[in-house]
Amino acid sequence: MNICWYDQQQLGVVIDAMVYDVSAALEALPPALYPAAPGDMLIAHLDVVREAITRVLPGATAKPIDAVRFLSPVANPGKIIGVPVNYADHVAEANADQATFTDRYKGNITEQGLFLKAASSLVGPAEGVSLRFPERLSHHEMELGVVIGKTAANVSQADAMSYVAGYAIALDMTVRGPEDRSLRKSVDSYAVLGPWLVTADAIGNAQKLDIKLSVNGEVRQQASTAEMIIGIAEQIAWASSYYTLHPGDIIMSGTCAGVGQVLPGDIMQCEIENVGSMTVAVKSEQG
Ligand code: MN
Repeated sequence: MNICWYDQQQLGVVIDAMVYDVSAALEALPPALYPAAPGDMLIAHLDVVREAITRVLPGATAKPIDAVRFLSPVANPGKIIGVPVNYADHVAEANADQATFTDRYKGNITEQGLFLKAASSLVGPAEGVSLRFPERLSHHEMELGVVIGKTAANVSQADAMSYVAGYAIALDMTVRGPEDRSLRKSVDSYAVLGPWLVTADAIGNAQKLDIKLSVNGEVRQQASTAEMIIGIAEQIAWASSYYTLHPGDIIMSGTCAGVGQVLPGDIMQCEIENVGSMTVAVKSEQG
């Protein structure tokens, strides 16, 4: 099932290039309590919401996907986890250009560890990326986004994939420079997730998907998730050995070679096999 948030925070299901308004399915959610349980409420109750979606779908109105504004398919993630240097060809390009990528970070992925992006950086594709520091270099990083479905603490690699709710296209936008990754990658709108969440049961083998990013029609990044140095299951096990993962937490699983600068007016086109495609505009923060 392809589940999205769109337009004025409506809940949608995407079938054959049409978005069905299934907002009525949100009534299946338990009443909100305060303090809230950690995590995204919809993802935490995805099973009951899916049942409700199936019930309301026959009476739902629909619009073509080209006529809706896609928001992030996870509304309230607790955290966004980044996986650095996880494709060999990206490691090579970063090592070859230390003026851009700096020599602050050394060693392989297990030596560098995971990083966190602020949840406040998250937007959907329709919102676009706003460059806050126009005098600095901002890069696109095209990645497979992994959305956690259940609370996970110290899970084994063998069990890890059963904690995945689904997948989406992710952009780990980055200001290049000497500061800590967490700061440079947490600018508002520097985490894009979309256009919808494809539930794990519908994706097949997530470790064998073609990913591609074009800017203004020119292909810049192209790879298969099979090329990851550390696979998704190991990422989940590793992350959950340090901190509890909650429903709706997002793992941006690493980027391949071809990262590059974006400027206001650029249009990024992102595609992942079996997930879909999304178009993301780059703007200056001044509008
Ligand atoms: Mn990245």
